[in-house]
Amino acid sequence: MKTYDVVIVGGGIIGGAIAFELAGRKLRVAVLDRQGLMGEASWAAAGMLSPAPDCAAAIPLVPLGRASLALYPKFVEAVEEASGLKTGYRTGGAIEVITRGDAGRELSTLVALHHGLGLACEPLPLDEALAMEPGLGREALAAALLPEECSIEPRALAAAVLAASASVGVTLRPGVEVASLALDGEKCVGVRTSRGEIYYASHIVLAAGCWSSQIPEAARWAPTVPIRGQMAALRHSGTVIRHVLRSEHGYLVPRGSGTPQTVVVGSTIENSGYEKRVTWGGLEKILAAANELTPELRKAEIIETWSGLRPGTPDQLPILGPAEIDGLVFATGHYRNGILLAPVTAKLVGEWIAEGGTGVEWETFSPLRFERARADRAAIA
Ligand SMILES: Cc1cc2nc3c(=O)[nH]c(=O)nc-3n(C[C@H](O)[C@H](O)[C@H](O)COP(=O)(O)OP(=O)(O)OC[C@H]3O[C@@H](n4cnc5c(N)ncnc54)[C@H](O)[C@@H]3O)c2cc1C
Repeated sequence: MKTYDVVIVGGGIIGGAIAFELAGRKLRVAVLDRQGLMGEASWAAAGMLSPAPDCAAAIPLVPLGRASLALYPKFVEAVEEASGLKTGYRTGGAIEVITRGDAGRELSTLVALHHGLGLACEPLPLDEALAMEPGLGREALAAALLPEECSIEPRALAAAVLAASASVGVTLRPGVEVASLALDGEKCVGVRTSRGEIYYASHIVLAAGCWSSQIPEAARWAPTVPIRGQMAALRHSGTVIRHVLRSEHGYLVPRGSGTPQTVVVGSTIENSGYEKRVTWGGLEKILAAANELTPELRKAEIIETWSGLRPGTPDQLPILGPAEIDGLVFATGHYRNGILLAPVTAKLVGEWIAEGGTGVEWETFSPLRFERARADRAAIA
């Protein structure tokens, strides 16, 4: 019989970060993944660590994003020390470029919105922006510096989190697919695999990314959906890009600061089911955005293209915390921000499991909110 203190369903960055946290608290932890670990959204991500909201729906997430960004230096230090691996973490900020419309007014709105949310953001005169990023396109009408934003290399981070988890005693089980929860009345006592084995544990964490909704007993609290993002990696020997560059059409994330330099460009936001194809239209969109930001990149070599499935939710917010089954905790639905939110998610779930409560308010992200919304709609109808 396989018995642990905690079984985590899903070995992406969320499951991995939680495992590392809990094993550090001396709990016996197993991570089950139906394929290789860290092979899905966490592998596909760009690695921007940006708590800035990309739309109105994401505004409630800003405090959690800020809290996670603040945890990042210690998280990286702990993971790098335990694993002996580097994560590509870099500070230095991001530059947001405005290329359309009434740029002056858009810049004022952007700065005011950020300040209202407690996020650092400064107007950046175009000559200063060009001094910081000489490759910036002449289509830039205005720019802002987001000095606190950072970035990381998700694949390096993923490898480091796995190695760090293994080093503190986490049992990693690739190739183990969870088919259902093992319930004893109102209590979750473990998980049943597709081969019929049961892994018993006092606590089960559901961190199966966009597939969380496929665990039958948990689906009503975790209505996750896949949202595809297409990406490309370019290698160039031109002007080195030092900051994350963003516009409303896409982004560039530089890796390293030498030449030739690799730059990751993204991304599309598509409802295409569980389909991970890279399409001509998708690439055209992200390469056009890259061209607008730094036209010099037209000379770059395309060294890789890929896509990944973000774990989306109906309200674009993550699903965190307990529901109505004892022993079950949700840590899923991180949509566009799972790399950013990994440290704070690990901290919250760790506190909940090891201490029975959390220091940060997470009611906004409760898995119960979807049922409450359904009940409210039914009452109105
Ligand atoms: C193109 C793209 C760009 C992105 N850029 C950024 C970014 O710049 N910054 C940022 O913060 N976030 C970004 N994200 C979002 C981020 O990647 C995700 O939010 C995050 O990786 C989600 O992590 P996860 O562990 O929940 O899911 P995943 O990494 O998808 O892991 C889930 C795991 O669960 C496993 N699994 C599923 N079902 C089962 C089952 N039944 N049994 C066992 N295992 C199962 C899967 O095999 C998988 O390994 C991006 C995502 C994409 C796709």
